[in-house]
Parts: sequence; structure tokens; C-alpha cells
Amino acid sequence: MKDQDPYQDPHQTRIDTTRAHSARVYDCILGGKDHYQVDADAARAMCDQWPALPVHMRANRAFMHRAARHLARAEGIRQFLDIGTGLPTSPNLHEVVQRERPDAGIVYVDNDPIVLAHARALLTSAPEGRTAYVDADMRDPDAIIRSPGFGAVLDLDRPVALMVIGMLHFIMPPDDHTLLARLLAPLPPGSFLAATIGTADFAPDEVGRVAREYESRGMPMKLRTRAEAEAFFTGLDLVRPGLRQVHHWRPDPGDPVCDDRDIAMYGAVARKP
Ligand code: SAH
Repeated sequence: MKDQDPYQDPHQTRIDTTRAHSARVYDCILGGKDHYQVDADAARAMCDQWPALPVHMRANRAFMHRAARHLARAEGIRQFLDIGTGLPTSPNLHEVVQRERPDAGIVYVDNDPIVLAHARALLTSAPEGRTAYVDADMRDPDAIIRSPGFGAVLDLDRPVALMVIGMLHFIMPPDDHTLLARLLAPLPPGSFLAATIGTADFAPDEVGRVAREYESRGMPMKLRTRAEAEAFFTGLDLVRPGLRQVHHWRPDPGDPVCDDRDIAMYGAVARKP
């Protein structure tokens, strides 16, 4: 797969409005407008199974904001590769990062045609920085690494933060670890991985039912135990406080207090030695 020109939107016809899609269900639950009736119906069915789903999704998004801010501000990272971007939801990654470092470069990657159709909104970089959108699948890391957008924005002599937020549950074993390793391989020492990993550890019945709702709509989902989540960071140096439920990872003062049972996501940030 190669870069697409989002302004031409050549794949508008790929958007299937008869089946729910993960990016659009997420948009609906986060209160966005870029989804269809079929997605709203799926979102309602999932929230019926687990009313905490919106709280959980907002906590995942808030982790992305804090992790990106930490990477830009405290670790000095100026380059980001974001896999599974989702529909534009302000603030997007480049907005969070360019607030700290206006010259930062961000490459967005997603495989959903509806995200491609909205990619223009992701390409409004600060004038000092750069953004690119790559229409590709995480299961084809070479397509990402060889894409013109990747080459144009990321300088592999300098550290890059690989962000894989709220999407590893769509990547099935046994390829999940290999795929992450292949994306990390070209990044120089001092690069980072920030990831969130779905889990049923805290509300097994409810989260299991949500997973079955996704699966029944053609979106297979893999939830992971704490040990399985931690294994994604093997060989990397975890940033304090290590792997936590996302709402416990460096919360900001004044962040809403969540019940642990409402958050089905682990998160961590780790440095490539
Ligand atoms: N990272 C964002 C959005 C998460 S929603 C956030 O956390 O807020 C999950 C996104 O992953 C969706 O946009 C979906 O289209 C995308 N996705 C799922 N499987 C993918 C794959 N194999 N390759 C690329 N993107 C994928």
C-alpha cells in the first residue's frame, strides 16, 4: 500500500456504511460526528453491555495526551509515528506535541478509509513542523517504513516515539510482537514506544461482553493480561511508573478520579536502549 492523497479521497467508495467500523464506533462514543447509523447502533449495544465504555475510552485518549506531552517536554522527542490514529479528535497528537515543540514532525498511519477521508484535518501542522498521513496497515510494517510520508517527515538519525494507542487489541497473536519489533527496528537508540493495551483484568464479564459485540460485527479483538501487556515492552526501559492502568499513569492534578473497574486499558512508555 502506498501513500494516498487525502485531498483526492480516491477511496471514498471503500467506506462501507452497512457495517460498523472501529474508528467510527470510537468516534461515536467519544462524542464525535464522523460516523453512520450502523456505528451508533453498535456503540449503543456496547454501552448497554458496559456503561463505563465512554469513561474507559476518554481515559485512553487522555493517556495519549499525557504520554505525548511527557515525550515532547521531558524526553525532548520531536518526531512521532502514530499507528492507528483514528478520526481527528481535538486535540490530536500533533496539536499536543507542537504545543511543546512547534517544529515537531508527526506521521499518522491508519488503515480505515474514513480516517483517510478526514486526513486533511490531521495535516494542519504548525508552520515550523510537519505532518504526513500514510494510508497503511500495521500488519504491513514495510509499507509504512517505505512510504513517502515516513521518509519525508522522520529523520532516522534522531529519536522517534512510536505511538500505538488504543489499537493493539485489533492485532492478533502470534504476529503482534513481531510487528511491533519491525516498526521499532529502524528507530535509533533513545527512541520510545508508547502503547495502550486492552485488558479484561478489572471487569472480566463486562469487557468480555463488549469484545463479543465487536467480534459479532466482524472486528476480532484480543484482550491481554497484565503479563501479556508487559511483554510488549520486553527489551525496552520502562519510564516511571511502568505499566499501569491508563488513568494511573502520571495523572495530572485535577484529572477525574476513575474506578479501576471502569478502565480496561494498560498503558506504558518505554525507551529503546
Ligand atoms: N489512537 C487513537 C484511535 C484509536 S481507535 C486513540 O487512541 O485515540 C483504533 C484505530 O486503529 C482505528 O482508527 C482503526 O481504524 C485503527 N486500526 C485498527 N487496526 C488497524 C491496522 N491493522 N492498521 C492500522 N490501523 C488500524
